[in-house]
Amino acid sequence: MTDISFEFFPPKSPEAEEKLWTAVGRLEPLAPDFVSVTYGAGGSTRDRTHACVRRLVDETQLKPAAHLTCVAASRADIDSVIEAYATAGVGHIVALRGDMPDMGEFQPHEDGYSGSVELVEAIAARGGFDITVSAYPEKHPESSSLQTDIDLLKAKADAGATRAITQFVFDTPAHLRFRDAVAAAGITIPLIPGIMPTTNFAGARRMAAACGTHVPDWMSAMYAGLEEDPDTRKHIAASIATDQCRTLLNEGFEHLHFYTLNQADLTFAVCRILGLCDSQQESKPL
Ligand code: FAD
Repeated sequence: MTDISFEFFPPKSPEAEEKLWTAVGRLEPLAPDFVSVTYGAGGSTRDRTHACVRRLVDETQLKPAAHLTCVAASRADIDSVIEAYATAGVGHIVALRGDMPDMGEFQPHEDGYSGSVELVEAIAARGGFDITVSAYPEKHPESSSLQTDIDLLKAKADAGATRAITQFVFDTPAHLRFRDAVAAAGITIPLIPGIMPTTNFAGARRMAAACGTHVPDWMSAMYAGLEEDPDTRKHIAASIATDQCRTLLNEGFEHLHFYTLNQADLTFAVCRILGLCDSQQESKPL
């Protein structure tokens, strides 16, 4: 049995809100193991995350995982967010260091957690939460080496993390090499590959550049000249993501995490093609 999970981001406008909940309604019948909601620095984006997580709890059968970062907040502030999630019945946190709002070098808040390991330790010490962390098969852009990232992942697992979700990767062999390196380092928590099916190849390329994700030449060639042809791009995106998921499943991965970008169509199609759902279920509007 393969587990699946979906990432959403909190919407910023009424139109985006409608789009998100349409996507949630379409994907809910696939019965994901959990759905995660991203978190930004700054009060208003945080409030949007909390509101989105609360609505998932109140209006769906889905199990939300709330992302939480150490950025620009004291330990007391972060601890109160954690308590609010516990009170709201949220039992799963994706614990991250996070990025500064200006994407500059990370500076911990003077009374804050120094990074992801301390945050995981604090959540684990409180108890009552499933704790997911990040992992970077192609190295975090700030990291001096892949081994540094693997050592950090080990520290996060030792601190109490229960699983790791990877950055999105297009070059599937990088996922496999990373899995082997993680196992060789004695890290035993499940490693969940992050999959990003996207029709917007130009946007995906920009995100990949920012995240240090390699865009293989074969992938660029498939999209070349299709800037004005979204229909063909959509077919290509579904095919690429399906192939990647199939390879990962054949390699023994038991859980796939989809970065949905709040769009259901591609993720829904990939899950249907791979049989990662009960085909009798119908999607419903929320
Ligand atoms: P970590 O894995 O803790 O570390 C990141 C870098 O810092 C690595 O290069 C590491 O080597 C270095 N480092 C950390 N601690 C030390 C140390 N003690 N000594 C030496 N080097 C160290 N961002 C958001 O703002 N909101 C989100 O909701 C969000 N969700 C994400 C979900 C996933 C699954 C992933 C993969 C990323 C997500 N991000 C999110 C992006 C993430 O915040 C950034 O990549 C950020 O730069 C790193 O946070 P992290 O917890 O992944 O960092």
